[in-house]
Amino acid sequence: MAASAPIQGLKVGVYEIPTDRPESDGTLRWDSTTLVLVEIEAGGKTGVGYTYADAATARLIEGKLKGVVQGGDALATSLCWHAMVHALRNLGRPGVCAAAVSAVDNALWDLKGRLLNAPVVQLLGAARERVPVYGSGGFTSYSDDELKAQLGGWAADGMAYVKMKIGREPDRDPARVEAARSAIGGIDLFVDANGAYARKQALAMAERFRPLGVTWFEEPVSSDDLAGLRLIRDRAPPPIEVSAGEYGYTSWYFRRMLEAGAVDVLQADATRCCGITGFMQAAALCEAFGIPLSSHCGPALHLHPACAALRTRHMEWFHDHVRIEHMLFDGAPIPKDGHLAPDLSRPGLGLDFKHRDAERFAV
Ligand SMILES: [Mg+2]
Repeated sequence: MAASAPIQGLKVGVYEIPTDRPESDGTLRWDSTTLVLVEIEAGGKTGVGYTYADAATARLIEGKLKGVVQGGDALATSLCWHAMVHALRNLGRPGVCAAAVSAVDNALWDLKGRLLNAPVVQLLGAARERVPVYGSGGFTSYSDDELKAQLGGWAADGMAYVKMKIGREPDRDPARVEAARSAIGGIDLFVDANGAYARKQALAMAERFRPLGVTWFEEPVSSDDLAGLRLIRDRAPPPIEVSAGEYGYTSWYFRRMLEAGAVDVLQADATRCCGITGFMQAAALCEAFGIPLSSHCGPALHLHPACAALRTRHMEWFHDHVRIEHMLFDGAPIPKDGHLAPDLSRPGLGLDFKHRDAERFAV
């Protein structure tokens, strides 16, 4: 094995993929998703990583990060990570900056795996062979029939939990939750308000959802309202758990959320929280606080770190990203009996980008 592998090149691509139907949650509507792809070369191998973010992320990578990692050692992922974070100091790390670091960091992990001919889960150290996934979609833009078909389909596929969006029209939420329940049998039902409710409104909703078998209440109030999350966590009827963390861009954010006692389960997203390196920092915080971890969105990207994080409970099987990852990556995983397992015969993250198929989405 070579002692080091100088980074020779970095390329960025932007792809805008229309959704299959209009999608919305409690606080946002969208009809396309942007994938920012990074490819890094060293030692005759190419590592691929990505984030779901704005096209501005690509410009930032070109202008601020490419020069920082070029010439660096592809095997020294922590050193590269630190140099990138340092270079963005004056721009403010959360948001676009953290997404940019994420895409590069994820590509570096894939590259390291390819250079060492090992899957990323082995580089990180496996804690398990497979991870349960929960089907996630149930957009507020769906009719009740669409909602039932999607969630019922995941239940029929053997998933032990499914998640739907709520909060767009609060008066309709109990009936929508009831409709979902009628389609999924006795499995766990998760709801995600994306911060749409006020504190007491969220508590009242939790009381109404409990008899319908809801066990997970994501972002009942804004994730910025840590005291509000704590209030719902303490007062919502068991077994309802409160979760949040998808807007975590730094380990400081996750630490504050955990110190506030704001969540029963922490969520983290390696396309936002400064990559797999940042995701494993969140995982270490979960270990220190004794709180379970669940990965947010992008299941193909999260599979390896989720298998390595000690406190992983499950991964999100998010409709929008599942569709994109299966269209654009060879090796995108498929659940079996409600679980995902990495293919250990493939090095790195086990994903090969299908450039030709992606061309029509290039920005
Ligand atoms: Mg969410």
